[in-house]
Amino acid sequence: MNAFLIRGLLKDPAIRFAVTECAPLCSEAVIRHDADPAGAAVLGEALIVSSMLPVLLDEAESYCIRLQYNGQAGKIIAEANDRAEIRGFSTAPQLGLLPLDQDRIFGDTARVSLIRSAGARILNSGETESHLASPAADIAFFFSVSDQVETAANAALRFNPDPKQPVASARGILLQAMPQCDPVAFEEIRKQVERVPFRTGMLDAAGAPEDIAMAILQAAGCDVSPGNLVFGQTIDPRFQCRCSREKLLQALLTVDRRELEQMFREQPELAMRCEFCGTAYRFSAGDLPEA
Ligand SMILES: [Zn+2]
Repeated sequence: MNAFLIRGLLKDPAIRFAVTECAPLCSEAVIRHDADPAGAAVLGEALIVSSMLPVLLDEAESYCIRLQYNGQAGKIIAEANDRAEIRGFSTAPQLGLLPLDQDRIFGDTARVSLIRSAGARILNSGETESHLASPAADIAFFFSVSDQVETAANAALRFNPDPKQPVASARGILLQAMPQCDPVAFEEIRKQVERVPFRTGMLDAAGAPEDIAMAILQAAGCDVSPGNLVFGQTIDPRFQCRCSREKLLQALLTVDRRELEQMFREQPELAMRCEFCGTAYRFSAGDLPEA
C-alpha cells in the first residue's frame, strides 16, 4: 500500500480534515523497534495520528507528542514536521499478543503533552490528562481541551505475516471543527468516528487517495458532494529520523570530561543508541575534542 496524507475542507458543517495511509512508515517503526503485535498496535496508532498532524502545521514547524500511560504501554513519543517526516518510539514495544487488553496496556490514565515548535523556538506547549485508553482518542482529546478546537481522530492497522513489511495497512482520520462549525453536527460526526465498526471499516476503502478519503468521510456521516468538499495538497508521510553522529557526540560531551576519560579507560568503545530510530553510534577516546 502506497503512503499518502490528504487534506481538505468541508463547507457544512465547517470542518478541516486529514486522511492518511501510512503502512510503510509504521512497518519501518515496528521493525526498527522490534515491536510485538500489541506493541506494534499501540505504537502504530500513535504514529498514524502523528502522520496527520502536518496538516495543522505551518512551514518549518513541528509537533512533539508525548503519551504517558499508567498501564504497561508506558511512554510513547512521536514527532512530525510540516513535510510529514515522522519518527517515534515506545518505551514498551513488547506488550504481547492481540487483541489489546486495554486495562493492562493503557491503565486508566494518560498524560498527553504536545509541543509545537519552529526550529529551536517553542510556539506553544500544553499537557492534559485523558482516560480514553487509545492514543488516537487521547491526542484528539488534547486538542479539544488544551487548544479548545473540537477534534476527532481514529486509527486502524492491519498486519501482514511478512517480517519485511509487518504492517499491511495503517489508516487514520483527523477532523477539526472550524470556528463557524455547528457544534451539534460535529458531535454527531465525532460519535460516528469513535465507533469500532467505523475504525475497522476505514481499512476496507479502496482506490486513489481521494476515493479512500471520500469513503471514510462518508462513513463518518459527512456530506462529500462536490459542492461541499474541497481537497487540498497531498503529501507522502515517511519515517525519517533527524539524528546524526554529530548530535549524539554533542549529547555525550555533556558528561563531565574526567568521567568520560575514565569511561573510555574502562571500555575502549561506547555505543549510543538513538531512541527514535534505534541507530547505534560508536565512539572512542579519539572522538573527544582536544582538552
Ligand atoms: Zn535516530
